[in-house]
Parts: sequence; C-alpha cells; structure tokens
Amino acid sequence: MPLTRSIARRASSRETIEGAGVRLRRAFGFGELPLFDPFLMLDDFRADRPEDYRAGFPWHPHRGIETVTYMLEGRVEHADSMGNAGSVDAGNIQWMTAGSGVIHQEMPKPVDGVMGGFQIWVNLPRHDKMMEPRYQEIRRDQIPALTAGNGVTVKVISGTFGEVTGPVKDIVADPDFLDVSIPPGCRFAIRVKPGYTVFAYVIGGEGTLDEGGSPLKNRDLALFSDGEKVIAVAIGTRQFRFLLLSGKPLREPVAWRGPIVMNTDEELRQAFQDYRDGTFIKSGRP
Ligand code: FE
Repeated sequence: MPLTRSIARRASSRETIEGAGVRLRRAFGFGELPLFDPFLMLDDFRADRPEDYRAGFPWHPHRGIETVTYMLEGRVEHADSMGNAGSVDAGNIQWMTAGSGVIHQEMPKPVDGVMGGFQIWVNLPRHDKMMEPRYQEIRRDQIPALTAGNGVTVKVISGTFGEVTGPVKDIVADPDFLDVSIPPGCRFAIRVKPGYTVFAYVIGGEGTLDEGGSPLKNRDLALFSDGEKVIAVAIGTRQFRFLLLSGKPLREPVAWRGPIVMNTDEELRQAFQDYRDGTFIKSGRP
C-alpha cells in the first residue's frame, strides 16, 4: 500500500435546495453512494444572504443515521423529540444519533449579519440502525486544538490526532474529524488509518493535498485513495483550511429516501409508515 494517499476523486460542491427552501452547497450525497462510506452527505450552508437560509429546516424525521452540525458563524436554533432545545453557536458541534428515530427542526440564524456551517451525515451499521437516539452538544472551548511549531492548528472534534483526543465519543463509524489550518508556505503530514475512507473539504485559502497535484480552493472536495498519511501544502497568501474526515466503511446495502437511511426497502417503507401512523418515535421521548 502506498504510504501517502493520493486524490482518487475531486469535485467542487454544487448548489442545491434543501429543507423548506434553503440554498446551500452539497459536496457529496446520494449520487456518490457508496464512495464515501460510512459518510453519506456533506452540506455546506455558509451563506451571505439571509433569504438563502431563512426558511430553515422545519420539523422532519431522521432514522438510521447520525447528523453532525458544525457551525463556523451565526447559530442554528434547534428542538427535537428527545426534549432538547437550544442553539448550536459558532464553533460548536451538535452530534445527533437519530438511531430508531428523532423528529427535529433546525433553523439557521445570523449573528452580526453572518451565518455559516456544515452538516455531515454518518451512516449507522445494521445492528445500530434502531439504537436509542442520543445527542452530544460540544462547545467550542471543549474542542482541543493542537498547534504545531510551524503554526499549523488542528482542532480535534472526534477521534484522535497525535496525543489529542476529541470530545465526541463512542461513534460507531470510528470517525476522525479534524479542522486543519495551515499557514502559507507550510507543509504538513497528517497520519490517517489505512483502510478507512478519508476525504477533505476545503473551507478557506488554497493548497494541495497530494504533493505536486493541482491546488484546491474554498468549496473543493477531495476523496483519497488508501494509504497511511495525507500531505497538505498551503500555497498563496492565506491560511489553507480544510475539514478532514476519516471513517470505517460499513460495506452494507443502503436504502435511502430523504432523511431516512436503512438497509432494505422494506425498512424504509416501514419508517415512512411509522411516521404517517404517529409511531415513528420508539424511545427517547422527554
Ligand atoms: Fe435534520
């Protein structure tokens, strides 16, 4: 196996409409199955115009997945069938395991005129699809940041990087979720687990993620081939910043419709039937 991962596939996120009419950019989703297994989707909802996101994501169900919301600016006001209600503020993470079923709403709001963040869907394996729903909210001051000598900063949201372990724990897909910032001109090697799916999504600046390859910029996505490390080089005059995610592939059949992702069509049909019948929530009521 080559030591350094190369880029197997690259793309820019593309505009789409979700929720009640939110204009956002999708880096990957249904059309890319099963390339990013165990990850299902990455949405970038950084936006300048409130009319692009004001309609939000009113009450909707999830089953069979985990939804991860990472806010950079502004906030998302939320409430769910487990009785949680509050706000995911800038720098914070909401890691929601829908399991057997959660109904929630997510409404992006500007703070000082700005709002932006990301939502990632992580698949659950067959034996955990119907697990008890749960919810982890992590504040930005709980997210450890490792600073290397050359000014590189790595925020560890989940998993482990170097000696640092992130605050999100006990996630089935064993994800490493890093927010990496590299000063201009610097080169930085990131050790990743062989055999795991690894991708990067650029959120600022410009740089390469496969030495000698063509540069990636804001809103570019790179899916890596197998290997033991990723080498990032910042070019230009700004910090090269990207999200780097790694997860253990499930390699299971995927039956996906809207916000529900199961293994079989029969399980999907049952989920929508439960929702119509008012029996969707199996546990976790307040
Ligand atoms: Fe949702």
